Amino acid sequence: MDIKKYDYVIFGAGIYGMYAAKLLASKDIRVALIEIDDKPLQRASYINQARVHNGYHYPRSVSTAEKSANYYRRFNEEFEYAIHRQFKKVYAISLYDSLTNAEQFKRFCDYVRIPAEEVNTSKYFNNGMIEAAYETDEFTYDAQKIRNALFEELSEFNNVDMIFSGQIEKAEIVGTDYQVCLKNGISIQTPNVLNATYASINQLLHFFGYDLFQTKYELCEVILTRVSSNFSNVGITVMDGPFFSLMPFGFSGTHSLTSVSDTPHETSTEQFPKFSCQTFRADCNENVLRNCNSCNYSPLSAWIRMSQLARKYLKSEISVHYDSSLFAVKTILNTAEIDDSRPTVIKISSNKPKFISVFSGKFNTIYDLEEVLL
Ligand SMILES: Cc1cc2nc3c(=O)[nH]c(=O)nc-3n(C[C@H](O)[C@H](O)[C@H](O)COP(=O)(O)OP(=O)(O)OC[C@H]3O[C@@H](n4cnc5c(N)ncnc54)[C@H](O)[C@@H]3O)c2cc1C
Repeated sequence: MDIKKYDYVIFGAGIYGMYAAKLLASKDIRVALIEIDDKPLQRASYINQARVHNGYHYPRSVSTAEKSANYYRRFNEEFEYAIHRQFKKVYAISLYDSLTNAEQFKRFCDYVRIPAEEVNTSKYFNNGMIEAAYETDEFTYDAQKIRNALFEELSEFNNVDMIFSGQIEKAEIVGTDYQVCLKNGISIQTPNVLNATYASINQLLHFFGYDLFQTKYELCEVILTRVSSNFSNVGITVMDGPFFSLMPFGFSGTHSLTSVSDTPHETSTEQFPKFSCQTFRADCNENVLRNCNSCNYSPLSAWIRMSQLARKYLKSEISVHYDSSLFAVKTILNTAEIDDSRPTVIKISSNKPKFISVFSGKFNTIYDLEEVLL
């Protein structure tokens, strides 16, 4: 049997797997990047609100806010070509049902040292809906641009092999290495594995026989919309509770619409992602999660409910029209439920051979990888 040898094998070509491959390859390390989909960056790293977090979103988790703010500038500089900056980013505090009031939000921004300048609520919102609104410093990223750039960079390294449609079939320890067989017949030997599979993180851990993360999973819909020209250079997030965000989706020309109550269609609190739609597909199950966005059994859109919520808050001269829906599974650590934190957690399950998992809370915390890879 022909066995290919690598210094590192990375499972998952989302932003974390691709960035890890680049970090390692630039140190002359021989890397295999194995992705189950037929292209890179098709799941959570593409299907999300595309917010480059500067901390505002986490008034109840100062540690998450500070971490985001610390990485904010670095991420915006490194991925400058993919950062959409040309819009006003407004955070607003709902007058009703908010877990954070305006005074607390402002105090929190001052504490984390992120700018927030109060703006007139009547510019965007209906009377009596918003306690206060702030113009802030936050951008969105264009995942397609990042995907194309990272793919090109990785293609230029001759010490990186990218394997798409690569599904693991068998893994065993041979001496101080893992020997991994893929369903397409490729066999690989390596002393180091990085698990960067996000919603499939426990599936891969289970495959290798290691302890799992305590997580829950949400099958999420991000709705892409077309907004009127008076809103094209504005993004709004209403905080902190069952509200909504409407903001530019990178450079796509659309605005993503999400809401805390209706973006998640179904929640799975099992160890592995388990959703009712999986009964329609034998190949998507507790052991292997397929791409929800290219699946014929994704849920019906929650556009009516989400747009009604946005309409309740937004002035009638701002129009929002449905364009399309994107679906992906969000993965949340059980401990994060308490304070709404979104930590990125790196877990080492074995040292020799080495098995590392990166559970990512956010896109722009990729720099945490440096702690374990360099
Ligand atoms: C609805 C939603 C909104 C969000 N909003 C934001 C936001 O605004 N800002 C922000 O910073 N973060 C946001 N996040 C979180 C952010 O998207 C994730 O933290 C980040 O993208 C995860 O990156 P990743 O590379 O770990 O995962 P992914 O991008 O999901 O990549 C994992 C890869 O692993 C592959 N894979 C799975 N199983 C296997 C296997 N067995 N073998 C090989 N490959 C496998 C998958 O196909 C996928 O390509 C949001 C997430 C969601 C779902």
